[in-house]
Amino acid sequence: MRIVRIHNELLGTYGDRGNADVLAFRSKFHGVKSEIIDVSYREPLPTNGNIYLLGGAEDAAQVLSLQALQRDGILPELIENGAVLLAICAGFQIIGNSFYAGGKEVEGLGLLDIKSVPGKERFVGDVKVRAAVLDLELTGFENHAGHTILGKGIQPFGKVSVGYGNGDGKHDGAMSGNIFGTYMHGPVLARNPDFADLLICRATGRKYQTINDPLATQYSAWRRKVTK
Ligand code: GLN
Repeated sequence: MRIVRIHNELLGTYGDRGNADVLAFRSKFHGVKSEIIDVSYREPLPTNGNIYLLGGAEDAAQVLSLQALQRDGILPELIENGAVLLAICAGFQIIGNSFYAGGKEVEGLGLLDIKSVPGKERFVGDVKVRAAVLDLELTGFENHAGHTILGKGIQPFGKVSVGYGNGDGKHDGAMSGNIFGTYMHGPVLARNPDFADLLICRATGRKYQTINDPLATQYSAWRRKVTK
């Protein structure tokens, strides 16, 4: 399983690089050999990945990353052909129709019918979200100015019970097929190992199952308990 960590020098501000490490660690217990491929924005996006990861970033870095992805032009096709995409915060905004960076509207990749607009305040703090795809409460940390508005028929990633998520305090993220977008940093897969297992199973065409890693499970349960 090839895990492509996209433009970490731009999308690494919030530590989302850890998502790749969690996937690689847990894949061993699924009996899956994995490899992390780090790709810089100066290089072309590898086309042989099974999981692609986009992290959070400050506005200027977010735009540079988008421009590199537009230059390559290949990400939509890779996802259509079955690769899994996890997009966090700035990454989530990038895959939508548009977002604001430095006060200006920017056209996104259009992978999901969503748009992000600036809010009056910045949302910073812990979030708790019941993820539709797992029917499980996940926790994370948000730090963003964007409000994300979902197009008709676009499913949110989950329902918010603590924090703001897409800005309305009701829903977080969006998803469609193997595309998962969320505002949750953490990294989200370190805080929520079941979600990592889901992505590994999706990427390798397996039926969803979790592995037994007591320490990770305990940590995740503790985060759920203290996030209120
Ligand atoms: N720059 C974006 C915003 O503030 C995304 C921030 C982030 O990725 N944490 O909304």
